[in-house]
Amino acid sequence: VKSSELRGRGGAGFPTGLKWSFAPKELGSRPHYLVINGDESEPGTCKDRDILRFEPHKLIEGCLIAAYAVQAHVCYIYIRGEYYIDGQKLQKAIDEAYEKKLIGKNASGTGWDLDIHIHYGAGAYICGEETALLESIEGKKGQPRLKPPFPANVGLYGKPTTINNTETFANVPDILSRGGKWFADLGVENSGGTKCFSVTGNVKKPANFEVPMGTPFAKLLELAGGLKEGRTLKAVIPGGSSTPLLTADTAMKMTMDYDSIANAGSMLGAGSVIIMDDSTCMVKTLTRLAHFYYDESCGQCTPCREGTGWLYRVLQRILDGNGKNEDLDLLLSVQGKIIGNTICALGDAAATPVESFIRHFRPEFEYYIKHGKSMVEVNV
Ligand code: SF4
Repeated sequence: VKSSELRGRGGAGFPTGLKWSFAPKELGSRPHYLVINGDESEPGTCKDRDILRFEPHKLIEGCLIAAYAVQAHVCYIYIRGEYYIDGQKLQKAIDEAYEKKLIGKNASGTGWDLDIHIHYGAGAYICGEETALLESIEGKKGQPRLKPPFPANVGLYGKPTTINNTETFANVPDILSRGGKWFADLGVENSGGTKCFSVTGNVKKPANFEVPMGTPFAKLLELAGGLKEGRTLKAVIPGGSSTPLLTADTAMKMTMDYDSIANAGSMLGAGSVIIMDDSTCMVKTLTRLAHFYYDESCGQCTPCREGTGWLYRVLQRILDGNGKNEDLDLLLSVQGKIIGNTICALGDAAATPVESFIRHFRPEFEYYIKHGKSMVEVNV
């Protein structure tokens, strides 16, 4: 798995093999747990649900291999509650795997025991954060923990825990059967393998597309049917709503891999590509995003709890036609005070889009403040 250069597909992109190597080498008196993150709540993301629905066997096999690698006898698959139908498909596949003795006692005749349980969340975005997810499985409020300690040593029920995203585990069976080099060679340097990109927004065929890492963004856009007739590309959010927005020119020059997107000024994140054409009002879009993060803040730390509310209320004020000239600087000041000052990444996720939207489309915000209406609605 290390040689495959597989990186976590949930957003952070941490090398998977390295993460697994953090599990204690010896199984002591404390059991090890394996946890699969299928919460998938980032706006724009809808890839894990397809794996749960159409390829659950791949995930189960990946769990078995990973459990053996990190010496876990119990695995929890955490699925957001809204994915109930997908969860039922996965449960059916788990039941079949038990019947065929592929998992359970002496799983697949290996001498290794593995039990797999599904745990449904209740629909909170923050439960996609790994430590909040662990709290949720434990039956507590889904609120992130302060790190360190990290889950590798103190995770579920205080025991060593390895946690990865659904898509990450689904890649593992092919890596084991065909070899790490085969997988790495599918992609580009630092971004091995293929990646499932969820392309949504103003395209003709929004869908999930699994393509080699390093595929040009323009090719991905083409796969999604391109823009609607008569429209031009305005901006792209390449990795899910928490990643910085890019302008059309920058996006058209980048390839879909970690380094290229980072060089373009954003992040690959969970691979949730949101396409915006020239009919998109940036003020409305940013206000909608700000409301999402304000609504989903768990409230534990002040910069996030209060800051997300400030961002949303100031943006809504602009949208209502009551914006003030100093509002843009106020927004930038508030988002700057959130970044790096919170327990988990939700604070940064709420703050970074504000900066990138204003940096790239400041005249549009200024027009809205001056005229009390959208520049885009006037032009379209
Ligand atoms: Fe909760 Fe926000 Fe703090 Fe994360 S950053 S722990 S979501 S209040």
